[in-house]
Amino acid sequence: MPQPVALVTGITGQTGGYLAEQLIAAGWTVHGLVRDADAAEADFVARTPEAVLHSGDLGDADRTSAVIAEIAPDAVFNLGGVSSVAASWNDPVEAARVTGFGVAALLEAAWAVQESAGRRVAFVQASSAELFGAATQVPQNEDTPIRPVNPYGAAKAAAHHLVAVYRDRGLAASNGILFNHESPRRPPTFVTRKITQTVARIAAGQADELVLGNLDAVRDWGWAPDYARALSLAATGEPGDYVIATGQAHSVRDFVEASFTAVGIDDWEPLVRQDAAFLRPADAPVLVGDASKARRVLGWQPSVDFAGMVAAMTDADLEEARNPASRT
Ligand code: NAP
Repeated sequence: MPQPVALVTGITGQTGGYLAEQLIAAGWTVHGLVRDADAAEADFVARTPEAVLHSGDLGDADRTSAVIAEIAPDAVFNLGGVSSVAASWNDPVEAARVTGFGVAALLEAAWAVQESAGRRVAFVQASSAELFGAATQVPQNEDTPIRPVNPYGAAKAAAHHLVAVYRDRGLAASNGILFNHESPRRPPTFVTRKITQTVARIAAGQADELVLGNLDAVRDWGWAPDYARALSLAATGEPGDYVIATGQAHSVRDFVEASFTAVGIDDWEPLVRQDAAFLRPADAPVLVGDASKARRVLGWQPSVDFAGMVAAMTDADLEEARNPASRT
């Protein structure tokens, strides 16, 4: 049997990189879409030399359609685009163009391959808990009303609905409604990585304090490789919408404490300062996911718990603080 072929957009990102590694290990031929293949992130290229990279902007429908027609993949995983709420407020038009409507061209091109090749083409969208922005129901599941409160969430909602439209049309299209997921590859612009990087530097004697905004903000944080695995299960499983989450709510304070615990510092409170400059005008309500459908239908479950995730991130940052060439 020939190797199945995947196209992963956003392949050089945190979750796209893990997904590419997992697919290659499972015997897939993996192609990736990046804005500039010649300037692709060096760490990704070094870690994943088997991936075939194609240049293309997700907002360029002609280009993304041409790449899909050329590759004729068995599965398209759409992880690319503007991937943070803050970036979407900086450029809401770009968020709508790339993260929102870019997916229409991908779906139409995947549909065309399925029609012409006469075989299943799976489509898996990296959807987001930000769909539920103003949720009053906790935890959220696949039936929770979609009420985004920022341009990122609204763009993800547009893509989410398009995926459902193509599923009704006959494409094996799924939304993985991903709650926050973290790893040593998370950029330090996110609070989780800022915490583990700074705690590691404090432990290594390279920093004096950790300055944060709201320590009481609560999230459902999971381990990024587990979320990549959920997306590949969705590609081969029954098409649908799947919440991917741990179901555990933790505060930023819990995260800070777990990170200091990982480096053996118990008396951490004097090392942490709250600064109003880092407070968000209105922090989101409690987003905690109920992933029972993914457990039941896809057989997915997280493999790393909260303490294990924070320790893995902190350990990687401690290693990097002591030996800057060790980045994973
Ligand atoms: P990430 O690290 O920010 O990666 C985003 C990727 O998108 C990068 O590879 C980036 O590549 C690419 N990209 C950005 N703009 C593009 C454009 N115009 N055309 C083509 N590619 C573009 O994101 P992540 O954390 O891995 O998340 C993956 C996906 O899951 C995203 O769609 C995100 O919205 C979604 N998600 C993530 C989380 C989470 O907690 N991580 C939660 C819910 C949903 P270049 O910048 O190199 O071009």
